[in-house]
Amino acid sequence: MERSGEQYFEEALSALEQDHLLRKLTALDGPQGVRVERSGVPLLNFSSNDYLGLANDPRIRNAFHEGIDRFGAGSGASRLICGTLPAHEALEACLASLKKTEACLCFSTGFGTATGVLQALLDKNTVVILDKLCHASLVDGARNSPATLRVFGHNDLTKLEDLLVWGRKKVGPAGRLYIVTESVFSMDGDTCPLQEIVALKNRFGARLLVDEAHAFGLIGPSGRGWAAELGLESEVDFQMGTLSKAAGVSGGYLCASRPAIDWLINRARSFIYSTAPPPAAAWAARTSVDLIASSDGDRLRNTLRNNVRQLARALDCPAPVSAILPVILGSEDAAIVKATQLLEAGLLVPAIRYPTVARGKARLRIALSAAHSRNDLDQLAAAIKASN
Ligand SMILES: *Cc1c(COP(=O)(O)O)cnc(C)c1O
Repeated sequence: MERSGEQYFEEALSALEQDHLLRKLTALDGPQGVRVERSGVPLLNFSSNDYLGLANDPRIRNAFHEGIDRFGAGSGASRLICGTLPAHEALEACLASLKKTEACLCFSTGFGTATGVLQALLDKNTVVILDKLCHASLVDGARNSPATLRVFGHNDLTKLEDLLVWGRKKVGPAGRLYIVTESVFSMDGDTCPLQEIVALKNRFGARLLVDEAHAFGLIGPSGRGWAAELGLESEVDFQMGTLSKAAGVSGGYLCASRPAIDWLINRARSFIYSTAPPPAAAWAARTSVDLIASSDGDRLRNTLRNNVRQLARALDCPAPVSAILPVILGSEDAAIVKATQLLEAGLLVPAIRYPTVARGKARLRIALSAAHSRNDLDQLAAAIKASN
């Protein structure tokens, strides 16, 4: 007899559970922040990407309110129909000016930015080469395009070079070749060797897209990101990022040349066929970008840096450039056991498992914020050491 539709799901879910891979949603009682409550239990939170603590900053909250008062709750239509409002234009102008690019285009999410941009940039005569640890959204964007996709081992420059040699032959001297990578990798907190990648890109006449999701706001002068930190912004043809992590709101952006942005407006499906983001979100994000670029932003970055250094010292590991410290445990159940122990000690540190990371590379992912106190970090370090 045929299994019912629901039986299929139930069996598949119980297989996930047996493999320690079942995931469930658990709501917080109130807003996220470094201190949260779940079912009445107070927890110290090390799982959020709100690196600067801006998601609940009164200045950003007020900007959101002001955005609603000025522009209303919804955008009404796609940007190309009648959804472009002054808030969207202000956000794009402010990002382009900060990033020193001719233009910028904002999307509802970082995910939609990656899928829309790559699908629009890559055609069937293009070869696109991605780092193996690229975010799902970049992988989906490349896969949804008719381009030929190749993957190089994480930060493996020799393999990247081999693929560029191969790709250049395949597309011919005038053909289009793209390299896609991230500046800070979301589950490892390490950075890409951008200088070397830029040298390769120039040698092979490739174009380069760098996703700065976990770097924008917290790394580089004025929080402009890893490319800016290395003085390589002008070498990155497509500078991508999100407004949902350090910027504390939501949305994604791509900063690039005017013709590239005009092309995206005409071809990026996630931009064209989706209602414009709520104008208040764009207004709040713009306020956040201004704050990030200001001396208040410098102060927050400084606090975050000190927090990262303090925890790295306490855990006896090198301090990452980013605010992400992975504690690699290997097996999926070891990661769950450890995360559960920490939870019982009042610390929210997520166990990250397949398919977010490779099988057997399960880990705790500690994300730090400028809003954590020294005492918060001491507590975390003590609890991690105690459960070793
Ligand atoms: C989080 C993330 C995204 C998606 O951004 P959202 O704004 O959350 O949709 C894209 N790329 C990378 C590298 C990310 O970490």
